[in-house]
Amino acid sequence: METLIDSGRAAIERGARIIQSGGIVAFPTETVYGLGACAYDAEAISAVFAAKGRPMDNPLIVHLADSKDISDVSAGYDSRYEPLIEKFMPGPLTLVVKKRGDVPDCVTAGLDTVGVRVPSHAVAREFISACGVPIAAPSANLSTKISPTTAYHVFEDMNGRIPLIIDGGDCDVGIESTVLDITGDVPVILRPGAVTAEQIASVLGQVKTHDGKVIAAAPAPGMKYKHYAPSCDCVVASSPDSAMQEYGRRAAAGGNPVILCIREHMGIYAGFDVVDLGSGEDEICRNIYAAMHGAEKRYDCIICEDLGHSGVLASVMNRVNKSAGGKII
Ligand code: AMP
Ligand code: MG
Repeated sequence: METLIDSGRAAIERGARIIQSGGIVAFPTETVYGLGACAYDAEAISAVFAAKGRPMDNPLIVHLADSKDISDVSAGYDSRYEPLIEKFMPGPLTLVVKKRGDVPDCVTAGLDTVGVRVPSHAVAREFISACGVPIAAPSANLSTKISPTTAYHVFEDMNGRIPLIIDGGDCDVGIESTVLDITGDVPVILRPGAVTAEQIASVLGQVKTHDGKVIAAAPAPGMKYKHYAPSCDCVVASSPDSAMQEYGRRAAAGGNPVILCIREHMGIYAGFDVVDLGSGEDEICRNIYAAMHGAEKRYDCIICEDLGHSGVLASVMNRVNKSAGGKII
């Protein structure tokens, strides 16, 4: 199959026709690129899992053009969550709500809940509106690989597997949505993301967070799988000194390492190969996957600085730690 990359209204309309005839299409969102199919079409959903090589017990997020469409896939939610929807939809927040019966089990991996999100990306919303149906979509990468934040990243993994990639430029947020379960008494963050626990708590009063340790007690489905893995080795360095020591060890052993660091630290690493992740949490978040995509091609080891533990950087480090398989030096 030939994979076309195209942008603009014609690409959106072509994509909508593909979805309506049971096909699958990659499209941009503000978080990462998604690989979409009609959420009511079990056969099309199977094609998404097949194209990605994704395990069937890892549920997909259903993308909507507007929060008023939540009832198209959900049997309802507590009205105390209206202010949260007001504030963060559209945006990088996925809400886990009770599923409606006509959403096939394969979308939700057999769960009686469904993850719903309203992207803020203009192209995503135009595309979903043009399709006229909710769009179930995971990230548009091969399962276990780094998530795509450009149309070309999608092409690298999906060339020959899907008919169309709608190009909407670079993703503005750069990591996946926050997943918040609102089906219980207390809202629980199942996956950290660009909307932080503090932001959610400021609207709802409280939220249960999942740091690395607690996640194991009540894991979000899919979280046990290896994720965001570059094709080369990856470690987290707890300080610039340990980054340089690790770099020295790798280079002395004939390796070809690179350090991913914040802009403020660029000066520390004179004479080392480094990638500038930028400055400030939003820029670092936007750049992290592209930095890893670039580095995995040119180097055999990514040494990423520990970027921090609060706000969006905690979410970025959630991804980096998974890439490193928990290795910290
Ligand atoms: P991806 O689209 O690749 O970012 O993966 C979607 C992720 O959202 C899954 O791996 C789950 O962690 C989470 N998710 C989606 N639907 C549900 C659900 N119904 N219950 C809990 N978590 C969900
Ligand atoms: Mg993914």
